[in-house]
Amino acid sequence: MKSPDYQPYLNSEDMKFLCIGRNYAEHAKELGNEVPDEPVIFMKPKSALLQTNSPFYYPEFTNELHYECEVVLRISKNGKYLQERTASKYYDAISVGIDFTARDIQAELKKKGLPWEKAKAWDNSAVLGKWTPIPANFDKNNVQFSMKKNGELVQSGHTKDMIHNFDKIIAHVSNYFSLNIGDVIFTGTPAGVGECVVGDELEGFLGDDSMFKLTVQ
Ligand code: MG
Repeated sequence: MKSPDYQPYLNSEDMKFLCIGRNYAEHAKELGNEVPDEPVIFMKPKSALLQTNSPFYYPEFTNELHYECEVVLRISKNGKYLQERTASKYYDAISVGIDFTARDIQAELKKKGLPWEKAKAWDNSAVLGKWTPIPANFDKNNVQFSMKKNGELVQSGHTKDMIHNFDKIIAHVSNYFSLNIGDVIFTGTPAGVGECVVGDELEGFLGDDSMFKLTVQ
């Protein structure tokens, strides 16, 4: 099932990241946020992608770097105004990734009611694991994923606990943003987000398979 195809589809020239916030009730709670009625959406530009084999450096503008391990989906077909019942035709691969967040900056921005880009969309803030093709008998509500920090389990999630499932997310975001081949959806993080510091090793898993491993430098 493993694919060596680590990078976004066909190295798409103008891919974007569409990210969902507060999609697991336990995580919304841990950050003191309300559980939203509809998906919270934010974006990262292509420049947020950490390229394969590039080192990840602790950004100098934050003092509170948080990892958020999430299931990611790769968009395989262009679309807009999609229906939930056909949404699964628009993604062809799954992995896990990290939505790196400067939590101190995000807290400031949230307090002032300002946009989140400075906390979320900076260079190299999006880590992608290697892609696994979606199997024919794929059960989207039965995906287990996790992340270890320095060999210890820090996050463990299951897609049955999502507030908005993959197809609902895709249908919803496509009302606002065209989905293009190569775009990547970050589907939200489960509870257990936390800080990392220089020297920490982060490893993400889809089921038992290791999908990415990086050391903060
Ligand atoms: Mg996130």
